[in-house]
Amino acid sequence: MTPLTSRPAGLVPVERSDAPVADDRGSAVSSPAAPLLAAPMLISGGTVIAPDAVHSPGWVDIRAGRIVGCGAGKPPRDPDFSFPESTLAAGYVDVHTHGGGGSSFNDQGSAVAAAQIAETHRAHGTTTLMASLVTAPLDEFERTVAALAGLVEQGLLAGIHLEGPWLSPAQRGAHDEALLRTPDAESIDRIMRAGRGTVRMVTIAPELEGGLAAVRQIVGFGAVAAIGHTDATYDLTRQAIAAGATAGTHVFNAMRQIHHREPGPALALLEDPTVFAELIADGVHLHPAIVRFIIESPSRPVFVTDAMAAAGADEGDYQLGALDVSVSDGQARLADGTIAGSVLTLSAAVRYAVHTAGVPVEIAVRAATQNPADMIGLPDRGRLAAGNRADLIVLGAGLQVTATLQAGLWVPCASD
Ligand SMILES: [Zn+2]
Repeated sequence: MTPLTSRPAGLVPVERSDAPVADDRGSAVSSPAAPLLAAPMLISGGTVIAPDAVHSPGWVDIRAGRIVGCGAGKPPRDPDFSFPESTLAAGYVDVHTHGGGGSSFNDQGSAVAAAQIAETHRAHGTTTLMASLVTAPLDEFERTVAALAGLVEQGLLAGIHLEGPWLSPAQRGAHDEALLRTPDAESIDRIMRAGRGTVRMVTIAPELEGGLAAVRQIVGFGAVAAIGHTDATYDLTRQAIAAGATAGTHVFNAMRQIHHREPGPALALLEDPTVFAELIADGVHLHPAIVRFIIESPSRPVFVTDAMAAAGADEGDYQLGALDVSVSDGQARLADGTIAGSVLTLSAAVRYAVHTAGVPVEIAVRAATQNPADMIGLPDRGRLAAGNRADLIVLGAGLQVTATLQAGLWVPCASD
């Protein structure tokens, strides 16, 4: 995997709490003798992406691991950290990740694997991560969900996303067809209860027998019903939205495509301002013009990685659930060529969207911060705003993440 290193000397805060900390002018601004345990701090930046405005310059005030203020212009007192050449944004929120650093969440809910994945993505600025599971046998799913629920309760993960087993065989992507099922109330109930309230999202193909009832059942558990891996028509997708679905899982990928007489699920999702539309902006899953099309649609765009184990790790052969995946040239594919997740980080997705698809920086950042936080109902994440957890990233001129603060503590960065 990519080594977790602190940045070149003198550039950014480093992970060791007793080490000198420096700003992006290269001068040390703090040499604390005591650990930096969520110390109060004022951080200034050349640009600050706030929820409803972009401040140039701006500042963020932090106390006890929470943001207590964020504003434009001169900071209210001397900053503890100053990044005049950089952009400050909220930490990235990834609501669809299967793995990274060589590990996968489907690995029996292993705490070691989950910590490896969280650390890998955090090293690229993702401070809030939801664990996505690909389709597995129901008994295994139940055990894995129960194990991961403990890690959500401990705060390592923000929730669990079930991608399967209630998906369309015709749009299965990299899910094992033999394990796909039609949604029945009893098995949904069983898996949701295994999660003890930590399953925040379920991807479902609403056209399956019992699909609309399943949408209502999932929403009844307080989770997001996301339409995906689906062959649904436009009309049926609208019925699923009326039944309570509020998201589209990696829109365009693994769903019936748009036809001028049968617009299918993508258009029904994208034209609805209440819907959050996931997209994988990695240069493999979507043409850059489609990235722009989704961003400019009435729906609320949400960048996701859909990353599998090879994200932040070496290319080669991997498992995704029960299927063999080979990773080369930055692409993860089954033997038949089907795309099988990505090796993306949200940081790379934002850079791709801005540099290749021409998306404005603040729009791209919001699609990786506040929109995903809103999508799964995390009121204190995804925004540089008073009351939010102090999750903050420092972005260099090329939008590379050069420093990351999680709950008020500096954490290690990888080269981005
Ligand atoms: Zn998928």
